[in-house]
Amino acid sequence: MKRGALGLAAAAMAAALWGAPAAERAGSADRVFVGGRIWTGDPARPAAEALAVRGPTVLAVGTSAEMRALGGEGTDVVDLHGRLVVPGFVDGHLHLLGGGFALEQLRLDDDFTFAAVAARVRKWAATHPRKPWVTGEGWAYAAFPGGLPTRAQLDALVRDRPAFLGSYDGHTAWANTVALRLAGITRETKDPPGGAIVRDDAGEPTGTLKEEAMSLVERLVPKPTPLEKEQAWTRAVAQAAGWGLTGVQQAGIDEDDLAVLARVLDAQPRLRVYAALHMEREPTPEALARQDALRRRYSSGLLRVASIKGYVDGVVEAHTAAMFEPYPGGGTGLPNYSQGELDRTVAAYDKAGWQVLLHAIGDRGIDMALTAFERAARANGTSGRRHRVEHVEVPRTADLPRFRADGVIASTQAMFPYPNQNHLGVYVPTLGPERAKRALAFKAIDDAGAVQAFGSDWPVFTAEVVRGIACAVTRTTVDGVPAGGWEPSQRLTVEAALRHFTRDAAYAVQAEASTGVLAPGLAADLVVLSPDILRVPPERIHETKVLLTVLGGRDTYRAARF
Ligand SMILES: [Zn+2]
Repeated sequence: MKRGALGLAAAAMAAALWGAPAAERAGSADRVFVGGRIWTGDPARPAAEALAVRGPTVLAVGTSAEMRALGGEGTDVVDLHGRLVVPGFVDGHLHLLGGGFALEQLRLDDDFTFAAVAARVRKWAATHPRKPWVTGEGWAYAAFPGGLPTRAQLDALVRDRPAFLGSYDGHTAWANTVALRLAGITRETKDPPGGAIVRDDAGEPTGTLKEEAMSLVERLVPKPTPLEKEQAWTRAVAQAAGWGLTGVQQAGIDEDDLAVLARVLDAQPRLRVYAALHMEREPTPEALARQDALRRRYSSGLLRVASIKGYVDGVVEAHTAAMFEPYPGGGTGLPNYSQGELDRTVAAYDKAGWQVLLHAIGDRGIDMALTAFERAARANGTSGRRHRVEHVEVPRTADLPRFRADGVIASTQAMFPYPNQNHLGVYVPTLGPERAKRALAFKAIDDAGAVQAFGSDWPVFTAEVVRGIACAVTRTTVDGVPAGGWEPSQRLTVEAALRHFTRDAAYAVQAEASTGVLAPGLAADLVVLSPDILRVPPERIHETKVLLTVLGGRDTYRAARF
């Protein structure tokens, strides 16, 4: 019999209530996986053919005969038939709630022509006639001539109600005329601080809203009900388990959502969530006390709060990532802080014992983040805080050694170099040739000795880990484009990509003492994959399927065919 999640839970409960016989507790495994290939991620014992689990932890790793010998009566013996087992995947940066909504929203992620976008918007509007708004996300700049959409294009698709659609990176939105009118946006409306209402030559709003200008319309969109939010969290947690994830860094959450997520994880204990609170600018003692109370409330179990997330800059496509040299057409981006403000903010959190995650994409933004971390360490005399730069897209080559020297983690996203039309048609030309060469340079980051943790930034890209591994290894689309890969010198081996999604990401979420590798005494968080991702040709990696996900010894996902 294969023991499922409930079986183990019941066994654990029985043991807690009545106590298990001492001999059995000392001797036998609850479950042994035999006849496979175990990639442990543990340098002390990198490979094995079998693994034994007792309760929530790995009991032993070794040969099939050795592991079978650890079994007793009632031990569940799983024959892997040669399949690969790896440590449970950890996503170093994602947004579960947005991902949960994305799973059932209008999504435009794979539409790289206007015709494809138009067809999908029209279809969604037709199949959701009672939705008061047409909302969705994921459009690529490359789908629009000139790189930005217009309200006239959207009016032709949705005329009867407001429509408001976000770009795939969440930094730009596309509104139709009804939505602009509801928001009172006219040629007289001033740009809000930190945002821009894009206008045509005559000064009329075109329907594109950048950064903070998005909120002029966004605040009118009906908010999801508490029930809809809870359902979205639940969907996201279930889907994450289906992708082989056992741990994730939630990159930003507020107090209300923490309470909902805690309830969801109580009811469905399928994922370890390491959640970052939102950074406050030069936080007051009251703000720090409030955030510390949340840290103490969520300090054990599946949901933990130990980090703070802030934004130093924006994104490349919107020209808001902070750069040393101008974008084509001018401008060097929008840092959200002066260096002084950032230094004081980071130092305050560092002093209060927080791990700080700073979104920084442009070379100037990354330098600002590293500088703030260095100054905080000097001012407070702290070390080993494991602060992180999120995204690290266009660092100066000379800044890479600072990650290792400062003990700062490079938190990168494996799918960000995915060379689709948006990437090759907008992202790369926006950077220009010199910057493009050093963009998303995963191999250079590894070679500089930094700890590099992979994530997805779901729903920006899918959090399906095998897709991320495929992209980091091939730097092509799933169709093999461009041949040989985009900037192929930055391709990684499958093992390096696996390490970044397991051990290194576990280190980045401060959980490496209990997860991230498969070794005796550590959590039994593991994934069974097929085919063997270490042996298939690179162009077939993305076809790899997750057959089983185990979290703390309990199944959180099992494919029908396993
Ligand atoms: Zn993010």
